[in-house]
Amino acid sequence: MRGQPRILINTPDVELWPGGLLRARSNADARVLSRAGRVLRRKRDGRYLAAALPEGMLSLSPRWAHEPGIEAALDALDSLRTDRGFDIDASGELPLEQLIERLDSLGLDESYGEKVGLGLVPEPVALAFAGFDRYRRPLWLTAHAARAWEGMRRIAGSEGVVLEAISGYRSHHYQLGIFERKLARGQTVEQILTVNAAPGYSEHHSGNALDIGTPGEAPAEESFENTAAFAWLTANAEAFGFLMSYPRDNPHGIVYEPWHWYYAR
Ligand SMILES: [Zn+2]
Repeated sequence: MRGQPRILINTPDVELWPGGLLRARSNADARVLSRAGRVLRRKRDGRYLAAALPEGMLSLSPRWAHEPGIEAALDALDSLRTDRGFDIDASGELPLEQLIERLDSLGLDESYGEKVGLGLVPEPVALAFAGFDRYRRPLWLTAHAARAWEGMRRIAGSEGVVLEAISGYRSHHYQLGIFERKLARGQTVEQILTVNAAPGYSEHHSGNALDIGTPGEAPAEESFENTAAFAWLTANAEAFGFLMSYPRDNPHGIVYEPWHWYYAR
């Protein structure tokens, strides 16, 4: 377990974080997190549920053992302990059933995907730590994309171009949460879809998509196309396996996103 501290293990409802990468919310938390091999974190709201310490599981939330999906998380924890040779490159993807159920309950059935020409994007079973983003949050990507990003950023830097990660992997829960909060405030699905991607259809769920910025430039603005960073990416990103997903006038009708790059190798 300690041998793989820089991998995030993903299950449908709970993530298994390396303790050292989580922000402590209290002094008691800080003591536990510094000793934890893994912290079980609820995806729905980021709440810490329990920590795996050398002496056993420590509760960080009442009734954590009764959380939905906790069995899958504890199974994953067990297999990490017993399977020393965990291979992140071959770790696969999670099933889509739970996502499809939640989308149905929001009134977003498969006709939405057909209409915009996008398919549902599964989440990976494991993600690799790819450094920190602009906001000092851990950046998670698939192992392949993480290696490619780190290489690309290093070479760009050596040529005087600073690339910053704005956002990488995002879970279905995260995007569903945005939707459900807006619905609860009285917005309609149609209104929300004019501003937010439909949950389940974002390339960010795959762990292969990356929003890129550069210092002094606001994140996710079209003006990114006027930066030296964008010029460098246009000339070099493809050699590292990254393609711009949403150029001008793309067939999905998605707005031009010069900052959004997808690792496609
Ligand atoms: Zn993006």
